Amino acid sequence: MKAVLQKSFDKTLFLDNVKRHLTSTYATTVENATTRAWYLAMSRALAELTTFDLLETEQDERILNAKSVNYLSLEFLIGRLTGNNLLNMGVYESIGEAVAELGLDLSDLLEEERDPSLGNGGLGRLAACFMDSLAAQEFPAVGYGLHYEYGLFKQSFEACHQKEAPDAWCGIEGYPWEVARPELAQQIGFYGYVTTETVDGQEKRKWVPGMTVMGMPWDIPVVGYKSETVYPLRLWECRALAPFSLESFNNGNYFEAQHTLIDAGNITKVLYPNDNHEKGKTLRLMQQYFHSAASIRDILRRHESVGHPLAELPQYETIQLNDTHPAIAIPELMRIFIDERNMSWEEAWEICSRTFAYTNHTLLPEALETWDESLIQRLLPRHMEIIYEINHRFLQEVREKWPGDGDKQQKLSIIQDGFHRMVRMANLCVVGSYAVNGVAALHSALVKQDLFPEFHELYPNRLMNVTNGITPRRWLQYCNPGLSHLISEKIGDNWPVALDELAQLAQWADDDEFQQAFMAVKKENKARLAKWVKTNMDIELNTDAIFDVQIKRLHEYKRQHLNMLHILSLYYRLLNRPDFDMVPRVFIFAAKAAPGYYLAKEIIYAINKIAEKINSDDRVNDKLKVVFIPDYRVSMAEIIIPAADVSEQISTAGKEASGTGNMKMALNGALTIGTMDGANVEIREEVGDENIYIFGLEVEDVNRLKASGYNPFDYYNADPLLKASLDLLNGEEFTPGEPRKLRATYESLLDGGDPYLVLADFASYIEAHGQIDAQYRDTAGWAKKAILNTALVGKFSSDRSIRDYVNHIWKLKSVPR
Ligand SMILES: *Cc1c(COP(=O)(O)O)cnc(C)c1O
Repeated sequence: MKAVLQKSFDKTLFLDNVKRHLTSTYATTVENATTRAWYLAMSRALAELTTFDLLETEQDERILNAKSVNYLSLEFLIGRLTGNNLLNMGVYESIGEAVAELGLDLSDLLEEERDPSLGNGGLGRLAACFMDSLAAQEFPAVGYGLHYEYGLFKQSFEACHQKEAPDAWCGIEGYPWEVARPELAQQIGFYGYVTTETVDGQEKRKWVPGMTVMGMPWDIPVVGYKSETVYPLRLWECRALAPFSLESFNNGNYFEAQHTLIDAGNITKVLYPNDNHEKGKTLRLMQQYFHSAASIRDILRRHESVGHPLAELPQYETIQLNDTHPAIAIPELMRIFIDERNMSWEEAWEICSRTFAYTNHTLLPEALETWDESLIQRLLPRHMEIIYEINHRFLQEVREKWPGDGDKQQKLSIIQDGFHRMVRMANLCVVGSYAVNGVAALHSALVKQDLFPEFHELYPNRLMNVTNGITPRRWLQYCNPGLSHLISEKIGDNWPVALDELAQLAQWADDDEFQQAFMAVKKENKARLAKWVKTNMDIELNTDAIFDVQIKRLHEYKRQHLNMLHILSLYYRLLNRPDFDMVPRVFIFAAKAAPGYYLAKEIIYAINKIAEKINSDDRVNDKLKVVFIPDYRVSMAEIIIPAADVSEQISTAGKEASGTGNMKMALNGALTIGTMDGANVEIREEVGDENIYIFGLEVEDVNRLKASGYNPFDYYNADPLLKASLDLLNGEEFTPGEPRKLRATYESLLDGGDPYLVLADFASYIEAHGQIDAQYRDTAGWAKKAILNTALVGKFSSDRSIRDYVNHIWKLKSVPR
C-alpha cells in the first residue's frame, strides 16, 4: 500500500482520505476546518498507511525468524513526526502539491504539530535517532518506552526567570500518529509479599503483588527511509486495571475506590525532568519497573508466539538498556524464568546474561543511579531477593579472582553497604550484561580506567565503545533543505543513507562558486532564524554577524556560564578599550534547567538580564546581541542548527560523555569551539585541527589541577579581563539599583570553589574566540572550513553507530522488505 503511495501517488485518493478523517475522525467539514483540523486529518490519513506497513512488518515471517533488538529506554525525544515521515516515505513534494489544491500550505500544517518531548535531552534524542537508523537499514527492532501524559515541561521566561508549564503533547484531540494496541495490554504488579509454595515436592518462591495495574501499549510508527519497513516504537501507558473496585463501590466507599484509579494513572503521568541527575523517588522506580515488566513480557510474547523455546531467547532477541533506567528488567526476566517458568537459577542466568547489553551515558557521580534497598524491598520484594542472589554469586567470582581482598568486594558489590544500604544499578547492569559500552572513544576509555577498572579486569572483553551519532535524515535533509539540495546537485542524492559520501564535497572546498553557494544557504538559514526571533521575541538580528550558538540542557558541567563570561568580557572591552574591534556577534542560547536545579536557573536568569541590557545598549548593540530562545526542543533545534556559524561545546574535560549537538551543528557547516571532551575529540580527528577551535584543559590537566588544590581566586587575581568580567556580573550593570542580584553565579565561581574549572579555562577560551573573530574576516577561508566540516563528519551518522552495535554487540542481519 505504501509502495502504491510512493511509486504512483494517487492524489485524489489521498485527499479523499484526508477529507474522510476530517469528518469522521475530527467531526468538522471542509468549509469549517481550521489549519489544525487539516493537519490532524492529513496526519491520520498518513498514519493509516504506516499502520498498515507496521502490521505487515510485524507479521513478516523472515523478521519473526530473525534476530531483533529491543531498545529499552525511559526516554524517546522524537520531535515532530509528520514532516519527517513524509520525507522518509518519499512523498514530501507530492503531499505538498496535493494540499496546495485545497488551498493549504504544507509548512503551515506542519507547524500545527506539537513536539512529542518524551525525553530530557541527548539520551532521549539518541534513542530517537537510533530507531530511525534501525528502520532505515532494516535491522529488525522494537523500541520500548513510556507513554507519559505530560512530556518535558514547557519553558517560558517571566521577568527573566524560567517558568515551567505542563506539556500535554497529545492535545485534546489525541496524537494522530499513534495507535492503541489493546490486545497487547499487560498486567503489572507492585508491592505485596513473597511466599513459598511446594510444587511437585519442590519449594518455589512466589510473589503475591498487593497492587496490579494495566499497561496499555501505544505504537508510534518508525518509518524506514523510502522502504516499506515500519517498526513500532511501543509506549506503555499505565491505567487502572478496572475503573474501580466494584466491591468497595457497593460498600459505599466510592471515593476510596477511586483511589486505586488515581494511583495507577499517576505512574505514567509525567516525565521526570532531571537530565544527568538521579532523584530516588518511589514513583520514578515504579515507572522504571512498569516499563521493564511490560516490555519484557511483550518480548517473551513475541518470542513464543512463533514457537521459539525460551532457551533460544538470545538467538532471537537482544535487549539494549539505554542507561541503567531499565536495569530492573534483569531481575524481572530472572524472576519470570525461575518463578513462572520453573527454570533453575543456572539455566535462567545462562539465558539472561546472554540477552542484555548496557549503554553507560555518564561518569557524573550524581547521575549514577542507586536505589534504597528498603524501597525496592517494599515495592518489589521478590526482585530484591533475586538481586541478593545475583550479588552473592557474583561476589564469589570476585573472591576467586582476588582472594582475601575485602576492598575489591566492597567496591564491586551490587549492594553498597552503610546505614542505608543502596542498590547500585550500574553494577547490576555490568554483571547482568554480555556487553557494556560507552558513547564516545574518550568516554569509553574513562569507563574502563576510572568507573569500572575492576570489572574490566574481571571481564576483559565486556567493555567497549560505540560512538554516538545523529540521523542525517532529520538533522540535515529535513531541517536544512537549502544545503541538502546544494549537496545533492554536486554528489547525487544517496548521501542521506551513506553519509561518508559527503567527503566528496571536499574537492570543492576551495571552489569560489561553491563557497558562495554554501555561504548563501547559511545566510538564508540565518535569515529564517532571525525572522523567528523577530516574530517571537521582537529582537532584530544582523545576519552578517557571527551566529554563535550554545543549545543544550542547562548544567554547570556544560558551562553556559563560561560562554556568559566571554560575552561580559566583550562588553567590557567594547566599553573600555577604544581600540577594541570585533566582528559583530549574535550569541544564541537555548536551554531548559531542571525545575529543582537552583544554580542552573540562576544562570538562565543572569544570561537573560545581561541580554536585556546589552540588546538595548546603543553603545554596543551594532556589535553584540544576546538571545535566549525559550522552550528548547527538537523543532526549535531544527531552526537554530542550520543557522549556526559557531558551535559551543565547552564542557569541562571528562564530563560530557559524547554530546550529539556538536555533531548536528558540524554537519550543518558550523565550526566547533570546544574542549577535548566527549565526541569533540573525534570530530577534531575527522575535520582536522585547522577546522575546529580546541581550547582548555584536558582530562589529565583537570585531574592534576584538582589534585593539587584548585583555587579560582588565583585566576581571578591574576587576569584583569577575567576580574573585570566577573566584577561586571556582580555589580549593578544588569540589575540597576540592585547590585549583586546575579551573585549566585559569581559566588559559585569564587567562594563556591568553581567545581567545573570555568576560571581555569577562561583565558584559553577567550583566545580561541579571538582566533574565530580573526578568521571569520577571511570570508573564503571561513567558507572552506565550514564546507570541510559538513564534508568530513560522515562518521557521525547514527547509521554508522547502529552498524557498530550490530557488528560488535547485537549480531543482527538486515531484513529488507
Ligand atoms: C541534540 C539535542 C540535545 C543534546 O544536545 P547536547 O549538546 O549533545 O547536549 C538536547 N536536546 C535536544 C532538543 C536536541 O535536539
